[in-house]
Amino acid sequence: MTEFYDVAVIGGGPAGLSAALNLVRARRRVLLIDSNRPRNSATLLSHGYLTRDGISPLELRRLGRDEFLAYEGAEHRQTLATKVAEVDGGFEISCEFRGQQSSAVAGVVLVTTGLTETLPEIAQLRAFYGTFIHSCIECDGYDKRDQPLALIGEHPDLTERALLLSQWSDDLIVFTHGSDAVSPADEAMLSGRGIAVERRRVASIDGDRDGMRGIVLEDGSVVRRAGGFVRPEWSGALDYVAPTGADLDGDGLLVVDAHGRTSVPGLYAAGESTAPGPQQLIVAAGDGARVAAVINRDLIGGLEHLADAVQ
Ligand SMILES: Cc1cc2nc3c(=O)[nH]c(=O)nc-3n(C[C@H](O)[C@H](O)[C@H](O)COP(=O)(O)OP(=O)(O)OC[C@H]3O[C@@H](n4cnc5c(N)ncnc54)[C@H](O)[C@@H]3O)c2cc1C
Repeated sequence: MTEFYDVAVIGGGPAGLSAALNLVRARRRVLLIDSNRPRNSATLLSHGYLTRDGISPLELRRLGRDEFLAYEGAEHRQTLATKVAEVDGGFEISCEFRGQQSSAVAGVVLVTTGLTETLPEIAQLRAFYGTFIHSCIECDGYDKRDQPLALIGEHPDLTERALLLSQWSDDLIVFTHGSDAVSPADEAMLSGRGIAVERRRVASIDGDRDGMRGIVLEDGSVVRRAGGFVRPEWSGALDYVAPTGADLDGDGLLVVDAHGRTSVPGLYAAGESTAPGPQQLIVAAGDGARVAAVINRDLIGGLEHLADAVQ
């Protein structure tokens, strides 16, 4: 028999865990469905989460799951949601894990499955990602402070990122990887701040187990760098909610109102599954808690005239 839950939270990152904890404390029967693939799994340490600065991503999740599961009404399934479809009284969620199918029905679904990132095609980049090369400047800038750094990317926000990164290092080279991500005017402005722009394509990252040594350009020359940042492309991976017909934005992320409600009544989203996408752990956790409170109030009902006032 398919189990019924008040709320199914799909995605057990900080947004989903925080929402699940707050919902179960609101005496809701909550199913947390998670494939356990943290976006930050490439890194060993997470930074900037109040009271947990420097914790490993997996440990942060374990603590969050344990806190949630200590409550009556909390249930966790490690599986992948493959389809969410509207049914009488809510939504049916179909899941699959190692060939094993399961399903659940919930009155409300909260989507917190984050986003996927695509790195530029550069040999060895993945090997250094999360240790010597990062994507979140606010998260990892401090640990790269005062080092000779590279910023690699092809996106138009590269100049803005270079300016941000200059807060942590004044030895910075921007690698556009053959793209025109930095305009000549922006290059002149960056140059005025001591930031160089290298427009040749990057072939690979030079280094070994002891660390990163530099950036290898297509002609074989190596630019010495101790570490750096990359600008991935970010997009939603939300095909599984397509049967609901919920509106997605141009990046494939769920469109939500100020309270995390999607265009489909009863379907909510929080964290990086919604615009603007990339955030930080504590921001995603805060968003999950915020939307959990909205869900609880919506489930109580009769508060429609107060909906905006209470959040
Ligand atoms: C390399 C790296 C390092 C980072 N370092 C830091 C840092 O030091 N500090 C910091 O504050 N932030 C850091 N971040 C950012 C941080 O990881 C994100 O802001 C945060 O994880 C977003 O939380 P979320 O809950 O929205 O999504 P996620 O953490 O991505 O969680 C989504 C969850 O949903 C699950 N999922 C996905 N699809 C499905 C599905 N179909 N069915 C079931 N489950 C599914 C995934 O397995 C995952 O567990 C880093 C990011 C990266 C990439």
